[in-house]
Amino acid sequence: MSDIHIDGLTKEFDDVTAVDDISLDVDDGEFLVLVGPSGCGKSTTLRMIAGLEDITSGELRIGDRRVNDLEPKERSIAMVFQNYALYPHMTGAENMKFGMKSVSDYTDEEIDQRVQHAADILDIPELLERRPSELSGGERQRVAIGRAIVREPDVFLLDEPLSNLDAKLRVQMRAELLQLHREIDATTLYVTHDQTEAMTLGDRVAVLNDGRIEQVDPPQVLYDYPETRFVAEFIGSPAMNTVPVTLRWDDEGVDAVHDNFELSLPNPESFTERPTSGVFGVRPEDISLARNADDVAQTFEAEVSVTEPLGESLLLHCLIGDDELHVKAEARSTIAPGDVVELTVDEERLHVFDSAGEAIYH
Ligand code: ATP
Repeated sequence: MSDIHIDGLTKEFDDVTAVDDISLDVDDGEFLVLVGPSGCGKSTTLRMIAGLEDITSGELRIGDRRVNDLEPKERSIAMVFQNYALYPHMTGAENMKFGMKSVSDYTDEEIDQRVQHAADILDIPELLERRPSELSGGERQRVAIGRAIVREPDVFLLDEPLSNLDAKLRVQMRAELLQLHREIDATTLYVTHDQTEAMTLGDRVAVLNDGRIEQVDPPQVLYDYPETRFVAEFIGSPAMNTVPVTLRWDDEGVDAVHDNFELSLPNPESFTERPTSGVFGVRPEDISLARNADDVAQTFEAEVSVTEPLGESLLLHCLIGDDELHVKAEARSTIAPGDVVELTVDEERLHVFDSAGEAIYH
């Protein structure tokens, strides 16, 4: 078993708390993504697991071993870095086998076989004799991943491995990483600041903010039921709309009241308390143009200030008083800045957050 147990992991650099009491379990064979904005502590967390950074406090276990004080090479992990960290004077094959002697008892012949096997999995046998300067970014990345595979580690740690690649190659490499994960089935912890990458790769995604975990869940759960306003605004592009509202309770239920709209929330029993104010959240694709105002119970007006064609849809920036809502309208719609539109929302997809940013209604 090579599950990872992280319990109260903390890292302090002088007066900076880079990682603040993180607890997280990664199951054997799981692909877990750590995502968050720059500086939130993703790399430091990964580096502590790899043994490249001392742990200030907390416990780290891989399988049934406590690894806090083990050397990196004793942890049965392999790490792939953003900059690939290949030796420029060595060929692909030499890079892949470098250091293998010190972490294993394999003979030279066995190591060569493993390099060939990894190259076959990654479809790069022809790159083995080339030096990094003779490889493209994507090819270097494959060699770096090949070096990790050769070690047959229990745990793969990947730190922004795709961020130096162009957009098209990133999409291709994402698919390749998923395929690779299916083939070798190693426990994988993957760091990225890119929420799309996190959503597409992770069995589960842990969202980090300021050294702490905000939420850990499968991608669709994070998207549909964000537990905090931070997660709601970080996951999804364009981001979820959030506007302050008053909450008006009566015998019938509860309304979210803004200067420009009043929307009845259909599941008042979801609230555990009866707050009188909150932050209302709705995703751009969950607002639409009301086709026939008479047919739709809850509509409100907004003035379009900007239109952005996204190809598959038209993003409208709609003013409601001092606030703005982003709305995904149909592509090729003829709406123009200055138009006043009638909007409606998908009632089952509304959110409310309290003043501390905790979700209090979905
Ligand atoms: P990025 O996506 O920009 O790489 P990150 O989420 O990986 O960011 P970390 O690199 O883990 O963030 O850094 C977390 C915090 O710790 C930051 O405030 C950073 O400045 C600080 N930090 C990281 N390494 C050190 C160090 N060696 N000395 C002092 N502070 C550090």
